[in-house]
Amino acid sequence: MKIFISADMEGIAGPAHWDEVDKTHANYAEFREQMTAEVVAACEGALNAGATEIVIKDAHWTGRNIIAAKLPREARLIRGWTRDPYSMMAGLDSSFHAALMVGYHARSGSDGSPLAHTLTERVASVTINDRYAAEFLINAYTAGLFGVPVIFLSGDATICADAADFLPGMATVATMEGIGNATNSIHPDLAIERIREGVETALKANVSRCNVVMPAHFVAEITYQKHITARQVSFYPGAHLSQSHRVQFEADDYFDILRFFMFGISMTND
Ligand SMILES: [Zn+2]
Repeated sequence: MKIFISADMEGIAGPAHWDEVDKTHANYAEFREQMTAEVVAACEGALNAGATEIVIKDAHWTGRNIIAAKLPREARLIRGWTRDPYSMMAGLDSSFHAALMVGYHARSGSDGSPLAHTLTERVASVTINDRYAAEFLINAYTAGLFGVPVIFLSGDATICADAADFLPGMATVATMEGIGNATNSIHPDLAIERIREGVETALKANVSRCNVVMPAHFVAEITYQKHITARQVSFYPGAHLSQSHRVQFEADDYFDILRFFMFGISMTND
């Protein structure tokens, strides 16, 4: 049984400032340990439920955060960025039994975390078929593309609520709540315990309840902080400006939406 884990950092227990999730800052070491511990806990839960192989995508910033030597030997770790449209889900394919998300966070434009964003701070909001999209939703549809159920997410309380609203069968563990520019977090060790138990329970149940239903047609809209970014992205083939700071793109195949996001979100500059 192969399990995929996409791991981010802003939604682990604790961080309240960008310095704490930034490799170049002294505060980072403490939170890098916690990110690693939460991912290890997810691995242990999966192994307890019968997983035999685990692939982890380190999906925060440089993609080089998790301390590999602390992972169980059944795990492989994808570090850095593959530079393809799969982004935070790189390494996933249809051979996986289930996908998990650890350390996820509220979307751009939400008040759920002081670190709320969607892939880049240049983006004010993203919608897919008129639903606000966090990285969770973008990546859940990627799992859907491969027919892999998304069974578990840990992160701030807002992204947990978003995830459970989209996929009611999913298990979630809320590590903290955002309050303005602050976070109110559970104890780091409690987050670790709840993640281990939550993953084990979720995997032992019937995972097909968490299959992602793929719409027949996708309409994606990206609203940027600056109109100049929207102008640049509006030249992507098939895309158009729907407002001065907003670009729309439509496709039936979600891979085409992911490719639009690769150019329209990940590769933009100010
Ligand atoms: Zn991140």
